[in-house]
Formats: sequence, C-alpha cells, structure tokens
Amino acid sequence: MKIFYSESFLKHTPPFPHPERPERLKIALKSLEEKGFLKNLEEPPSASLRDLLKIHDERYLKRVFEASSTVPNMLDEDTYISEGSLEAALKAAGAAIKCAALSIKTENVFLALVRPPGHHAGRKGTALGAPSQGFCIFNNVALAAAVLLNRGIERIAIIDFDVHHGNGTQEIFYRDPRVLHIDLHQDPTTIYPGTGFPEDVGEGEGEGSKINIVLPIGSGDDIYQKALEEIVLPILEEFRPKVLLYSAGFDAYREDGLADINATEYTFFKLGEIPREIGVKRVAVVLEGGYSVGLRLGLPAFLLGLTGGAPKFAKPSKSTEGVEVMAQYYFSRLKKVVSKYWCI
Ligand SMILES: [Zn+2]
Repeated sequence: MKIFYSESFLKHTPPFPHPERPERLKIALKSLEEKGFLKNLEEPPSASLRDLLKIHDERYLKRVFEASSTVPNMLDEDTYISEGSLEAALKAAGAAIKCAALSIKTENVFLALVRPPGHHAGRKGTALGAPSQGFCIFNNVALAAAVLLNRGIERIAIIDFDVHHGNGTQEIFYRDPRVLHIDLHQDPTTIYPGTGFPEDVGEGEGEGSKINIVLPIGSGDDIYQKALEEIVLPILEEFRPKVLLYSAGFDAYREDGLADINATEYTFFKLGEIPREIGVKRVAVVLEGGYSVGLRLGLPAFLLGLTGGAPKFAKPSKSTEGVEVMAQYYFSRLKKVVSKYWCI
C-alpha cells in the first residue's frame, strides 16, 4: 500500500469551531501508525487547472480562486476557505489523481489521505440542489475517475460509503455509463445533503449506472452486510470494473458525531474486502468524511480488509427490528428499480 499525504492538508483551517478540522488527519495518522500502516508516505503533486476543468465549471473555479485571495472566506454557510485552503485543496485533488494514475500501472492499493474532502462538490459547486458544498472544494474522487476515463479505462466503479450521499460525484457522472457509482448513505430525508434515493439511477446513457443504497437511522453492521451481499457485490460482479475507486468516509461509524448510523470495525473491514471478493486488483482510495472514532477505528479496519489482514474485533452490531423493517423497505424499493438493469 502507498499513501499520499501532505502537511499542506493541515493548513486548511476553520475560522470558527468546525467538524472538518486539521485534527481529523492527526487522528488518522496516529491510528495508522499504531496499526503499522504508516510506511510509504509520499508527498502528492498539486492538481493543475487543466485537471480541474475535466470536472468543474470554469466559473466555479474562478469563484474558488477569487475567494482564496480574501481569507478567511466562506464558499457557503458550511464551506470555509482559509489561508492554506487552496494549496490543500489542489494537493488533495492531485493526490487522488496520482493514486488513480498509479493504480492502472501497478496492482496495489493507493490511498489519498487528504482534506478537504470532495464528494459533495459538483460541476458548479453545489450539486443536485443541495443547500451547500458540505465542506468540499474540489471533487477529488471524481477527478480520479475523470483521469482514468481520459486514459481510456471504460469500466470504473466508485464505492462511496461516506454516511452522506456523494451528490457531487453523482451529478458529475449522472449521464456516464462508464462510471458505476454505488453509494451507501443514511436516509436522505434525515440528513444533509437530502439526495440519493433508490429511484435516482442516472440519466440518458448513464441510466442504471447509479445505485443509491439508503440506510435507515440506527442501521448496524447487519444491515451493511445485507446490502453488500444482496446489492453491492452482485452488481460489481456483473459490471467487472477495471479499477475500483473508494470515496471513503468513516462518519457512519457509531458515534462518530455527524450522523445516526451504527457501523463498527466489522463493516469497514468488510467494505475493504470487496476488491478481493470480486477479483479486482487495481484500487485507489480517497478519504472523505470521518470526524472522530470513525477515523481512529474504522479507517484501520478498512485498510486491514483491503490488505488481506486478519480481523481482531468484536461481533457485528445488530439493528433493532424496526430498523430492519425500514431497511427491507428501502432495499426492496431499490431492487424493484435496479433489477431492470442488473441481475439482482
Ligand atoms: Zn460525510
């Protein structure tokens, strides 16, 4: 495994108390060090304007660059810009691009350990009618996918398991069948950004390539396990991706702070096992959210699953009957729509 990380990521600093803060990466680094994952750290390059234009609108980029010259500044009520933000955001995007580019050269796992996160950033900033960009400046994982598309890779899977819907990524590739986007997130009627329902399957040629798995409040590891077995793995096996990109957020971890889902190490380990389950050896991981315990425990469990380690943690968490019924409802709704395109 190779990790791309820069001290620049710590220079994106909120002007007031904010969950998306530099300490997040310090928690991640400490935990990875303790678990023996912190070996191959490399400084990423910065993304170029040409790279960014592959997925973002010129006017939006102009707005970001202009906002960065008068700091501190706000892109919207959730998304701040500080002195070091532009440098951090360009390096975060560059790290994701680098990971994707390396993944098609070498069969290995590449991790972009970055901030700010990216999956809520759409072509023009806010995406699919969301109220804000949710702490995101450039869409790092979408850039990784765009670079692969540019190099002629036609079957790319993005698995976004951040607890919030990856609305920016979804918007950017909504009409593109070459990008299968599977997104597992908390029920959008209960959390930001309020998008990502089972019926949102993509448009035009992209119809059927966007899979939104809705998790009711209180979902535990048992619900994730069901989602993996009944939806995620069968679709991936049918799609046979050349490269698997993860939009990896750890805020679904129980009591991580911003959501109401009860995933534990068990789920993150299982999510990490996906490439080996489906026989894909080219993997790039881009960090999204995760604000406390998710980064401390979920991230290393995920990497353990990715690298074929043996799990050493407690039993999976169980959901209540009410939550199971709700999950069943959402899964049936999804299967009804998606079975038109996939054998599930
Ligand atoms: Zn999130």
